[in-house]
Amino acid sequence: MQTQKIPTPYTLHPAPCTLPPAPTDCRILFVRISQQAVPYERPALTKSYIKGKVQSPKLGGMHCVQLEELMRRRIDVKLCSKAISIDWEKREVLLQSTRFGDAMEEVAAFKHLVLATGSSPIMLDVPGASLGNVLYAKTVVDIDRIKKQMVPGKRAVVVGGGYIAMEVGAALRCAGVETTIVVRGDRLNPRLFNRNMSTFIEQVYTDHGVKIQKERTVVELVGSGKNVTGVKLEGGAVLDCDFVVVGIGSAANMDLLEGSGVETGACSATGKPGIVVDEYFRTNVEGVYAVGDACLFPCKKAGGKLVQDLHVLHARESGRKAARVILGKPLTPYDPIPHQYSSVDEWGFAWRFWGLTSGEPILIGNMTNDDGWYALWFDQEGKLCGAMHCAVDVEVRFLAGARGHVRAGAG
Ligand SMILES: Cc1cc2nc3c(=O)[nH]c(=O)nc-3n(C[C@H](O)[C@H](O)[C@H](O)COP(=O)(O)OP(=O)(O)OC[C@H]3O[C@@H](n4cnc5c(N)ncnc54)[C@H](O)[C@@H]3O)c2cc1C
Repeated sequence: MQTQKIPTPYTLHPAPCTLPPAPTDCRILFVRISQQAVPYERPALTKSYIKGKVQSPKLGGMHCVQLEELMRRRIDVKLCSKAISIDWEKREVLLQSTRFGDAMEEVAAFKHLVLATGSSPIMLDVPGASLGNVLYAKTVVDIDRIKKQMVPGKRAVVVGGGYIAMEVGAALRCAGVETTIVVRGDRLNPRLFNRNMSTFIEQVYTDHGVKIQKERTVVELVGSGKNVTGVKLEGGAVLDCDFVVVGIGSAANMDLLEGSGVETGACSATGKPGIVVDEYFRTNVEGVYAVGDACLFPCKKAGGKLVQDLHVLHARESGRKAARVILGKPLTPYDPIPHQYSSVDEWGFAWRFWGLTSGEPILIGNMTNDDGWYALWFDQEGKLCGAMHCAVDVEVRFLAGARGHVRAGAG
């Protein structure tokens, strides 16, 4: 295998978020494992792309950064290249490229390193999990695999009840697939929804023909030949199916940190590991930054506790902030209002959440009709710390105004 040395010290991003134009004395290298020519954002994957509303390979509507735009900003792009290890003393990254069939290695020296390695889906760890047609939803390739299975009348089991699993479940049902969502807990998305909220949302799903099995643990995937044919639950029941989609969460990619001395920690809300940064996305190692899903940042709204925010607004903003730090531009400390949303256009159904949860929310509105409801969370001092609107056939953008109230900590 050849190893080439890339001559110029780079500002190196394993995968960038939002980058300002590079100053003339700086080169930026953007390393990307995927063959997809341009980076894309993921929210559309399970909202519109899965339903064929936007098309590959352009992925229009998926907030793509075009290759020409990257070049105009003098950002070198390496597709099909994986950062496989880092020599932390020499400050060099070893890249392995498989673009043209043969594996090739290159070494890139860096002055600044941005770890934007994101997160990977947590794999289902039960016997039979490696059978064919056991699918995940992270990349365009993953969604293409799911789309191939989306034939009316086929039977799918979706394992997991977070928003990605729920969006996939809805998309499958919209395509006429017999869909069952299996969750271990007593409700959907328990980190965000209390029982009443979940009941409302379950009703929307069941009204559209999705079956929901709660308090069920998957113990095995059974198959005949190569492919999965059933999901075995604790207690012995088997749900027959033609394919399975697993959506049980994701975990930060931190493989490159070995021997780095870069501090890692655990998210105060979920206990999941991540790379610890300060409010400017600096790690404890000079010139090394972490952004997006991979990082844990001190969140003012959470009393300075370390928080992981697995959402796209955070990915964009953290990338911007880290870039400004590297460029020596003035900036204020990161003080976000975390944001989550989900929608199923075909059902006119959507919810939007700003802030953080804290204990039981106060629910306002009618949980039994389509106008939906608001949920408000208050912190220990009685200040508003989280707000959510969920509705059918109502414009959920209304809640965008709540962001300001959450920021102000309205009493
Ligand atoms: C299906 C889906 C739907 C979503 N919907 C929403 C939504 O509706 N709203 C919302 O707010 N958020 C949503 N999210 C979450 C949001 O997409 C993520 O928070 C965001 O993508 C995080 O961006 P990131 O750049 O930190 O990480 P990622 O998007 O995970 O990107 C990391 C990139 O780094 C690359 N990489 C990792 N290691 C290496 C290496 N060693 N060498 C080279 N490259 C490497 C990976 O291949 C990947 O391309 C969704 C996510 C998914 C998967």
